[in-house]
Amino acid sequence: MTQHKIEISGVSKWFRRNGEEIAAMRETNLSIEAGRFVSIIGPSGCGKSTLFNIIAGLMPPSTGKVLADGENIIGKTGYVGYMLQKDMLLPWRTILDNIILGMEVRGVPYQEAVRRALPLMEKYGLKGFDKHYPKELSGGMRQRAALLRTLLYDRDIILLDEPFGALDAQTRLTMQNWLLQIWQDFGKTVLFVTHDIDEAIYLSDDIYVFSSRPGRIKSKITVTMDRPRKTEDMTSPAFMELKHHLMDLLSAGHEEEPISS
Ligand code: ADP
Repeated sequence: MTQHKIEISGVSKWFRRNGEEIAAMRETNLSIEAGRFVSIIGPSGCGKSTLFNIIAGLMPPSTGKVLADGENIIGKTGYVGYMLQKDMLLPWRTILDNIILGMEVRGVPYQEAVRRALPLMEKYGLKGFDKHYPKELSGGMRQRAALLRTLLYDRDIILLDEPFGALDAQTRLTMQNWLLQIWQDFGKTVLFVTHDIDEAIYLSDDIYVFSSRPGRIKSKITVTMDRPRKTEDMTSPAFMELKHHLMDLLSAGHEEEPISS
């Protein structure tokens, strides 16, 4: 079963640490429409990964609901594809065997999985690397492999938690264009976490700005720049205007918020 739209309503999260309740995320409502590229940007510790873990069904929220096409998916894994900053490739498996892992988990027979994976590897920059091991690849190549694995898990919604955070600036630009190409080709709905304002603007249709912990949505910004976007767009006046706006929003929220218990 595929899911197109995710609605998050009234979701909040507290953790109990040393007998004390710590608020990680205040009540959050957001709706992710099919096919959109949506980014979340905010300071470290504002609850972005917590929100992703809740959407992915890996962690229950303290309050609220997560609906996928109207069905409550709290505590249910497998409704969305999820990729972390760290590529999480298994070092003892070849790149091909890593890429087909998601399909394997879903019960696709090995030969069929290989038949689906190889053309994508060829098209998306991993041609000839099927028998290599992760340690033989650059950081950017490993992220390509991890993302192809997430894509082949074949969910309509994919969560990407700072996938390019550890890459150098040049590789990051290449990977951003690569991701936009994939997003266009596959028509997935993407929810993307980043710390990087340029990256958020360049990639997104919508940007949610989170406050510092306990996180809450401070603003939603819609990026109307034409697609396909090009690297040069990052220096256009429209881009700069949005960037200043986001910088203001982020710096305004940087004073420490009191921790409610
Ligand atoms: P982000 O991804 O935005 O950096 P996280 O979602 O990882 O933020 O964390 C949000 C807040 O919740 C942080 O202050 C973090 O210390 C706290 N937190 C996260 N996981 C736990 C946990 N398992 N136990 C206690 N506190 C946690």
